[in-house]
Amino acid sequence: MKFDFIPSKALIDQRAIYDNFKLVQNLHPKKKIFVAVKADAYGHGVREVCAPVIKAGAAGFCVAYVDEAREIRGFGFNNLILVLGASEAKSAAIAQKEDISLTAPSLAWLQEVVKYLDSTNPNKLKVHLAIDSGMGRIGMTRIEELEQAFQFVQDNSDKIELEGMFTHFATADADDEYYHEQQKRFKLLAKGFKQKVKYLHCENSASSLLEEDDDFTNSLRLGVALYGISPFIKPQKLEQKFKPVLSLESQISFIKKVSKGTKISYGATYTAPQDEYIATVSIGYADGWLRRMQGFNLLVEGEFCPIVGRVTMDQLMIKVSKCYSIGTKVTLIGNSGSKKISAEEAADFAKTIPYEILTTISRRVPRIAVNKIEE
Ligand SMILES: *Cc1c(COP(=O)(O)O)cnc(C)c1O
Repeated sequence: MKFDFIPSKALIDQRAIYDNFKLVQNLHPKKKIFVAVKADAYGHGVREVCAPVIKAGAAGFCVAYVDEAREIRGFGFNNLILVLGASEAKSAAIAQKEDISLTAPSLAWLQEVVKYLDSTNPNKLKVHLAIDSGMGRIGMTRIEELEQAFQFVQDNSDKIELEGMFTHFATADADDEYYHEQQKRFKLLAKGFKQKVKYLHCENSASSLLEEDDDFTNSLRLGVALYGISPFIKPQKLEQKFKPVLSLESQISFIKKVSKGTKISYGATYTAPQDEYIATVSIGYADGWLRRMQGFNLLVEGEFCPIVGRVTMDQLMIKVSKCYSIGTKVTLIGNSGSKKISAEEAADFAKTIPYEILTTISRRVPRIAVNKIEE
């Protein structure tokens, strides 16, 4: 569907993407960076994100599904794309054809996948072996299985090629003891594995901000920090250099002066304590602005205005100090005047993490690139 009459929009600052990428690349000058653009680039719009990161020097992309990788191929990017999840075996045929790298979570997965591969295709399926060093999601935990997986790849070298090996951390965002244990386990397994792999990677955003550049791994996977969001549970100094990429805006679609005692929205949970102005904004939970944001403040012309009454599917109401005209901009995430609302603040209010706030912004909200970096 084309959305020509939806006043809500997510503005994507491509210059901020470029600068955030460079900050991480400067911390790790020796490493190749794969940018996590799964879930429509964390809700930012994959197309709007891919171009500036390639321009900034990204070596490739990480996604969750083969379909997401195909979308990127469709835009004409021929960089490495790694699918991070345990892909359906039959998707391997497409991955081979379109030169999409897959994660091998087990020996059994490789044995199943090989059935779908074409030995007459000069492109082999590229795989990255996943090591489960403590995340408990996917991957191999024993050196024997890694060696067997490697042997299996060798035995099927007409169809498969080993391109990388990696692990994923569960608690890098907390920088705790468990994180250091996981690092040790990964190092032990990666050292025990005798073969040289082209790409060895373990760092996500949090870990890449914590660690100095080293020679043990030669690549990393950058996600949330690229989007200017802190990866840490407790904010740290370094992140202040990162610029938020996404702003979310909508408009006042209706305004009225209500008298004391007037009730607002489903459940009539809000009663006006005095005569006041109530504005209706064209955004709701179907756009990704969660129902539990009731009570949170939005910005109108640099002034905080609370959401009153329940957030409905497509509209919500705010209490405003004057009779704004229809079409007045409302900022849900971003700057207005001297004030600002961050995705982190919205997440704290909703008792979730910024990743969820951002990826929940629905397809109905157009993503519009600003401060453009030309392709
Ligand atoms: C999503 C994801 C990343 C990126 O994580 P951030 O915390 O956003 O940097 C890296 N690796 C894997 C396996 C992932 O699933």
